[in-house]
Amino acid sequence: MGEAVIFLGPPGAGKGTQASRLAVELGFKKLSTGDILRDHVARGTPLGQQVKPIMDRGDLVPDELILALIREELAERVIFDGFPRTLAQAEALDQLLGETGTRLLGVVLVEVPEEELIARMLKRAELEGRSDDNEETIRHRLRVYREKTEPLVQYYEKTGALRRVDGLGTPDEVYARIRASLGI
Ligand code: AMP
Repeated sequence: MGEAVIFLGPPGAGKGTQASRLAVELGFKKLSTGDILRDHVARGTPLGQQVKPIMDRGDLVPDELILALIREELAERVIFDGFPRTLAQAEALDQLLGETGTRLLGVVLVEVPEEELIARMLKRAELEGRSDDNEETIRHRLRVYREKTEPLVQYYEKTGALRRVDGLGTPDEVYARIRASLGI
């Protein structure tokens, strides 16, 4: 039987870093839809050309495209980073986990105050030069998060899968909280 963990939270919360570490230490595959899409953009594939303007604006890529990627990349033991981001994606994932007999170990919500998120993303823009990390796009991505993705907090609260984790502190501190919240 497969196992899955979901990382939920606003852009800039540190999900990617934490998800990578957990994946390495537990021997899970990290499946980051943002990383996969950025790779397509960098390689100039047809999908990459299609999604680049959407990502540059800070909008969400259509659910069908995301779900096709997820079906391709799904593994026996998987950590989802940046997916699901809409209710439609969450429902489709529930179905997929059911079909493949995969148990959801928990949904980690990494919580960070808004001003801190903006500061972190502006710093990341300087360091990594991500084309969607300028201030206007950052604010737009946060709005998109509140509108489209935040409803998932309630969705997973209802099923009892949600694990709230304080995302402030050193990466080690946050990591320890995440492991404790999942009991693994
Ligand atoms: P991230 O690296 O997770 O912040 O994702 C960067 C960008 O990729 C987002 O702003 C979206 O444009 C797109 N993206 C990543 N994951 C998803 C998803 N699950 N659904 C829709 N769009 C996504």
